[in-house]
Formats: sequence, structure tokens, C-alpha cells
Amino acid sequence: MFYEDLSNYCYYLKTPVSTVRNVGWLEKDQPYKTGKVLDGFLSKLSNIILGNDSVDAQVNRIRSMHPCSLYDCGMLEIEVNGKKSSLGTAEIWVPSKDGSVFFAAPTMVYHYVEKHSYLPPEKFVSAVMNFDLSMPYKAQDIYLKEIKGHF
Ligand SMILES: [Zn+2]
Repeated sequence: MFYEDLSNYCYYLKTPVSTVRNVGWLEKDQPYKTGKVLDGFLSKLSNIILGNDSVDAQVNRIRSMHPCSLYDCGMLEIEVNGKKSSLGTAEIWVPSKDGSVFFAAPTMVYHYVEKHSYLPPEKFVSAVMNFDLSMPYKAQDIYLKEIKGHF
């Protein structure tokens, strides 16, 4: 599944949602930006993917199966403080820094950055860096609200 970075979200939907932007939906043979992300980005991203007692940033769990699309890496896993999560079985939704949009990324985005030097859009990087892991946040509720009328 390839979506251009920052295009309007339309996965499983009839009409795209302009308040939700795609990030990191890479596909083999589609060029993508490479580079070095900010220090601390991957560690923050893994904490968002794994969530905690107040934060659950995942939507479309299981329904979205995305093994690494670039190489034969298959399905992968991350671990933070002994807690594990599979990559590629959900999306994460992260609010932009100014709160005007949400970014929807496959959890595999972690692997794309770590192993394939993918450089996500700056706005996504700052959204991740600014995400408050101590605030109650349930992405699935936002998902249901945002896609209303689009399917
Ligand atoms: Zn890979």
C-alpha cells in the first residue's frame, strides 16, 4: 500500500479525510526521502507505538497487516523496557504540533527509519517529539470521529 507522504488519509475509506495525513506508507520501487532523524526520535516513536496506561496511539489493529514493503524483512518486533509490540499490525495516529491535523503512519515506519534510512516529513518528526506520553490519548476514538461520513 503506497501513499505519498502528507497526502490525505483514505485507507479503507470512500472519500479522503483532509484532517488526517499519511506518513511512511512506503512501497518497493517508490522513491522515498532518506536522511538522519533527530536524536531521540526513534526512542520517542517506539514509546508511542507501545503506549502506556493512558496512551493508546494505535488504530486499525490487526486489520492493517504491513510487513516491511521494501525488502524481505518480513514482520518485525520492537521492545521497550521488556514490553514488546509487533510492527506492521496497526497504524499509529499522532496529532500535529499545532493540533490542526493527525498523522497516520503504519507502525512499520519505525523499521523504515531505523533500517532503511527513511526520513519522515519534518512535521511528523515534530509531532512525535511533541507528543505528551502522560496525557490520556485514545487514537481509536479519534479515528472513529474523523472517518465518520467517509465510508
Ligand atoms: Zn525492511
